[in-house]
Amino acid sequence: MKFKLLLLFLFVHSIVYAQTSRPNIIVFLVDDMGWQDTSVPFWTEQTPLNKRHHTPNMERLAKAGMKFTSAYATPVCTPTRTSMLTGMNASRHGVTNWTSPWPNDNTDAKDDQFDPAPWNINGLSPVPGIPNTIYATPFPQILKEHGYFTIHVGKAHWASMGTPGSSPYNMGFMVNIAGHSAGHPQSYYGKENYGNIQGKASAQAVPDLSSYHGTDTFLTEALTLEAIKTLEAPIRNKQPFYLNMAHYAVHTPIQADHRFFQKYIDAGLDTIEARYASLVEGMDKSLGDIMNYLKSMKVDQNTVIIFMSDNGGLSLTPHRTAPAHTQNLPLRAGKGSVYEGGIRVPMIVSWPALIKPGTVTDQYVIIDDFFPTILSLAGIKKYEMVQQIDGISMVPIFANPSYSDTSRALIWHYPNKWNNQAGPGINYYSAIRKGSWKMVYSMRDGKKELYNLKNDIGENHDLASFYPSKTNELYDLLFSRLKENKAPMMVMKK
Ligand code: CA
Repeated sequence: MKFKLLLLFLFVHSIVYAQTSRPNIIVFLVDDMGWQDTSVPFWTEQTPLNKRHHTPNMERLAKAGMKFTSAYATPVCTPTRTSMLTGMNASRHGVTNWTSPWPNDNTDAKDDQFDPAPWNINGLSPVPGIPNTIYATPFPQILKEHGYFTIHVGKAHWASMGTPGSSPYNMGFMVNIAGHSAGHPQSYYGKENYGNIQGKASAQAVPDLSSYHGTDTFLTEALTLEAIKTLEAPIRNKQPFYLNMAHYAVHTPIQADHRFFQKYIDAGLDTIEARYASLVEGMDKSLGDIMNYLKSMKVDQNTVIIFMSDNGGLSLTPHRTAPAHTQNLPLRAGKGSVYEGGIRVPMIVSWPALIKPGTVTDQYVIIDDFFPTILSLAGIKKYEMVQQIDGISMVPIFANPSYSDTSRALIWHYPNKWNNQAGPGINYYSAIRKGSWKMVYSMRDGKKELYNLKNDIGENHDLASFYPSKTNELYDLLFSRLKENKAPMMVMKK
């Protein structure tokens, strides 16, 4: 009887799947948004930050789809973005730190103990032979080859200027709006031409968008308006599209989005906090505007939306020139760290054809999984790529919120020096999670820490001395993976 039910399920499932093959796919990627910077609770309890922030459209997306409580990125921007496009773990692609807009510019801070690791300082390259890059096939290239209309809007930050990977057009995108080699905007303000000041334009001046220069249009809004415009053609032509909606928000500079700023001041937040909350709500409005547009065009039922942040909230500003505008409690630490605050991020996926509304999964997933997931959603089974991938498809989780795999091990590798005022878990750390166990390893002093995330999500109670065999098992597994992936390691100074 059970077997017959299973067959029936598979049959119905295959029909649903066939009818919705080649769905439109949107990855809505936010920059530096922490796990708690939203009114959607991703923990078992509602936190003060959940109460502070207003993200009604994220709430709407969560009601329509599936909330991932244990979704992971890497500690900083470029490694996450490279893993997303290639399906490779950062330890394998070797773009382990954020890339400079300038070529051959190692962003690692100087250190007394170590010389820099031989990481791929120029980022990702879709063509071979470019020095200090990882050569790989980005999935938008594969989507394009299989008939998708591919659009990039916003922050790219995959590679340094002058290398092929710095242009989204070389990554398989047919449209690029405002993406280049820089990792943050010079300005969010149209009145400041988004940093394009004649004679003073920096590497971070946002390209394109000149029709908004001199206006009151906040960068988040300009990107949203342009993204929606680019969707008109593929929808009209009934061509499936992939939209890489990669906001510059909510990365520094923490500038007020004046559409929302005053309400947070009125609510009693200080200026920096109110600016940040307004950046978050402006991003949320963008999500809502896109959802509304899809509905108005009657393509919402056949569009997958994957919401994600590229690393944890910035709880320690690298040069401490400003007070921190967020923290990630109950998680420990923030951006730059391999503790949960640096890597655990908000993630929501909606797709009416497969995902039941209002579902929640605690299954841990990582940004490496986007590559096989997106190609599977697009129904592309055979494709050519030059890299070996680490990610696995999340589609079985989409279909079944109680899906559980505690045998999988996830790893993080940061053989880099992010800044000179290291906070917890920042600079020269690796980590591994398997089931609810997590081992954090400091390459600086060889210290191993063990946490049980099931009852210690804040990584406050180091259990390494209580469970030495578990600690060593995870350490061995981590290092066998790092070795297999030929992970870059820093070199001891002579
Ligand atoms: Ca980031």
